[in-house]
Amino acid sequence: MGKLICDSCGNEVSSFSARYGYDTIFCKNCYGTEKAKEIIKKRREEPEKEALKKMEIEKELEQLNGDFPYHFKALLSYGKISSAIGWIIVIIGVIVFFVGFANLEFDGALGISAILGGIFISILGIGMVIGGQLVSCFVSIEKNTRSTYEILKSKS
Ligand SMILES: [Zn+2]
Repeated sequence: MGKLICDSCGNEVSSFSARYGYDTIFCKNCYGTEKAKEIIKKRREEPEKEALKKMEIEKELEQLNGDFPYHFKALLSYGKISSAIGWIIVIIGVIVFFVGFANLEFDGALGISAILGGIFISILGIGMVIGGQLVSCFVSIEKNTRSTYEILKSKS
């Protein structure tokens, strides 16, 4: 058994006489005294204060990160526009697909062409959406990396 030290008076405590409360150790003499109660109160408040401090830092970081400028605004816009146009193309592809499907019995060749064309257009659109999202994603990653680096640098 290792040596236990009373948190109040600092005297060595045998494990038998140790009293615990909120990770504190008191000797028989100190347990229940005003000073001991004060120490327990402080210990109890510590995690709360710690959590509050952490929350404040996180909020501050979030704000700093939010205010941080994008380096590749054009790329970001490109990504968003490309993604939006991609979705429109997907919708057009789906419409062409169903139009082809509906016309199959009237004009088989045209119907099949439209169905295949619709699938092809949809795939192109999805490709554009993915490409646009990838671009936006990379720009965001670049920004976050840079802002994290700058924030860490300013804090050290
Ligand atoms: Zn003591």
